[in-house]
Amino acid sequence: MRQPLIAGNWKMNGNLASTRALLDAVSAQAETVAQSVEVAVLPPCVYVPETSTRLANTSVRWGAQNLSEHASGAYTGEIAAAMLTDFGCHYVVVGHSERRALYGETNTLVAAKFAAAQAHHIQPILCVGETLDERDQGVTLTVVTQQLEAVIQHSGVEALQRAVIAYEPVWAIGTGRTATPEQAQEVHAYIRSMIAEYDATIANSVRILYGGSVKGNNASALFAMADIDGGLVGGASLDSAEFSAIIQAAL
Ligand code: PEP
Repeated sequence: MRQPLIAGNWKMNGNLASTRALLDAVSAQAETVAQSVEVAVLPPCVYVPETSTRLANTSVRWGAQNLSEHASGAYTGEIAAAMLTDFGCHYVVVGHSERRALYGETNTLVAAKFAAAQAHHIQPILCVGETLDERDQGVTLTVVTQQLEAVIQHSGVEALQRAVIAYEPVWAIGTGRTATPEQAQEVHAYIRSMIAEYDATIANSVRILYGGSVKGNNASALFAMADIDGGLVGGASLDSAEFSAIIQAAL
């Protein structure tokens, strides 16, 4: 049985005061569902120390939105996995489409970041997904295969036992245009079947989240799909009432 995970990707939003308020609201909501739904938040890196203090002794896990593929050294502006470990990060997002598109992150780099996280016992949340052009060209499954294969070739399929996958169609991120539950389920089932070609047990146990304009009013239908194990939530995770409705939909 895969426990649903609802993870809030706060992106580059908020300030110290709003971060504190949101952390308090989310931890209160998460307590009521702690037995059945896992809740995590991914604040901007500079607020990770505050997050670790505020969420200590709660059921909410936290993490970062990015990390360096390097362990340490002359990489100005970068954050190493060991630094995230110092502040109790359980998760780190790798391969988010905004980082792929805006910062040129390739499948090879994403695979290296995935491995760097796991080397420090942080679970990567590996984002995969196609652009609208790629969907229109009918190459969605090819794109997702290449994104996943890069990680499997680098770290081995066993590494997926200590990771979460997030299917996030790029055309649905921040656009208000959600994939239909059937569209999402088709890709989620494909991802699981692709992993099953390597190892059926791992395929059955790995959590595959859906991300892309998840809101309180569409979450239940998405989470009802057999291969959707929760959500990676961007915009709606900044609104505590909306995020709470999404958490409830995963019950
Ligand atoms: C995301 O950033 O991962 C995301 C899914 O954003 P949104 O929910 O705003 O589409």
